Amino acid sequence: MTAVAEVMDYAEVVERFDPVLGLEVHVELNTKTKMFCGCPNEFGGEPNTHVCPTCLGLPGALPVLNGKGVEGAIRIGLALNCEIAEWCRFARKNYFYPDMPKNFQTSQYDEPIAVNGYLDVTLDDGEVVRVEIERAHMEEDTGKSLHVGGATGRIHGAEHSLLDYNRAGVPLIEIVTKPIVGMGERAPEVARAYVTALRDLLRALDVSDVRMDQGSLRCDANVSLMPKGASEFGTRTETKNVNSFRSVERAVRYEMTRQAAVLAAGGTVTQETRHFQEADGTTSPGRTKETAEDYRYFPEPDLVPIAPSRDWVEELRGTLPEMPAARRKRIQTEWNLSAEELRDLFNSGAVELVEATVAAGAKPNDARSWWVNFLAQEANAREVEIAALPITPAQVARVAALVDSGELTNKLAREVVKGVLAGEGEPDEVVEKRGLKVVSDDSALLAAVDEALAAQPDIADKIRGGKVQAAGAIVGAVMKATKGQADAKRVRELIIERVGA
Ligand SMILES: [Zn+2]
Repeated sequence: MTAVAEVMDYAEVVERFDPVLGLEVHVELNTKTKMFCGCPNEFGGEPNTHVCPTCLGLPGALPVLNGKGVEGAIRIGLALNCEIAEWCRFARKNYFYPDMPKNFQTSQYDEPIAVNGYLDVTLDDGEVVRVEIERAHMEEDTGKSLHVGGATGRIHGAEHSLLDYNRAGVPLIEIVTKPIVGMGERAPEVARAYVTALRDLLRALDVSDVRMDQGSLRCDANVSLMPKGASEFGTRTETKNVNSFRSVERAVRYEMTRQAAVLAAGGTVTQETRHFQEADGTTSPGRTKETAEDYRYFPEPDLVPIAPSRDWVEELRGTLPEMPAARRKRIQTEWNLSAEELRDLFNSGAVELVEATVAAGAKPNDARSWWVNFLAQEANAREVEIAALPITPAQVARVAALVDSGELTNKLAREVVKGVLAGEGEPDEVVEKRGLKVVSDDSALLAAVDEALAAQPDIADKIRGGKVQAAGAIVGAVMKATKGQADAKRVRELIIERVGA
């Protein structure tokens, strides 16, 4: 093994090989307690404070199944269009690892709770790809190791290791796709889009925090290549625990270029787990992949099988929210958006805010424009989430209404929003305090028009002579005199009237 892996140019990779992807996503459920005991299911905490004899696997301790965990698994299965098993059970997956205090993981093996589903994934250009789901099964999370003393935080070079079992026993759902084939050069993008769509779906279900940075959503990316025209899959590698959407895309792309170089040189790809390096976007070998036999699976004798009644499953189906893909479609139709406008709206992270602003009476286009354009920039400048801006959808709707009724121009409206953001109160108060109302009193405007005409008699003559476009200069002068608070259209009418009279 050389230190720097050879890679093939990406264009050549997709010309010579077909990539096959398999994505395994682990999601931690946000139940109050762990999967098989009453310990709190909370991220963090002082090490080894959320533990009991059961989740530590002490002799004689018996697991008790968390009903809410099963409920979460079924809801996820239904949302992924899966069949829910009429009968399933847990198995012991035996392996020796310090963060596995019981020396086996309670998981589901050949009898998962949900099988044969799919998730429709929208790519950046609007193309929809259907990703088939093989299974979603229940299991428990492991503890965490902390390796101390080494330069890399890894076990190599560490002086000693510490173990925190707070996470051991936290309910996990593992969602496994069927092989994703035929994606060609778009395979890395499909991988990112799938994990993103899955995150959105799980968030809509409210079953998990879905924080990739905190590990409550983790993705393992399986990648293999087969020569163009071949039908037998190549040997795959599994890049473990990739922790951002962008990294999923980079990891798949890198593995494609690395494996292609190995195959093109006449070598064979080793079946192994690999680790993704954020810093340079490469992967490095981990352990050689175990096979199912290595785990000596057998049915968990301490837990009774699970047979969810059809009535309960249908009741849970009734609790499913509008799915993100359906929601996107509805919003696009209702608000009459182009694919690009829809994408910008979702990228802005302001969909809920725009919806709430519309619900408060604003027109969809106005609401979208305020949040996606003006307020997104404000959020950027302040380096905060857009939802954290100190302005409410109702306040934005009020500003839009003031523009609609002609009481504010767009320019003044932006001043009002800035005032609200600066904590100067409700929009109407800001209008009052800053004196921002449009001057709609004709007599005040006429005085300004007369003054401007008198100051530029040559332009007044031009307009009188029929050159109506010359009125622009006078409009400008009036706007300046009224500090932008005049209705430009009305000013123009008054100028023509005055000169014609
Ligand atoms: Zn416990």
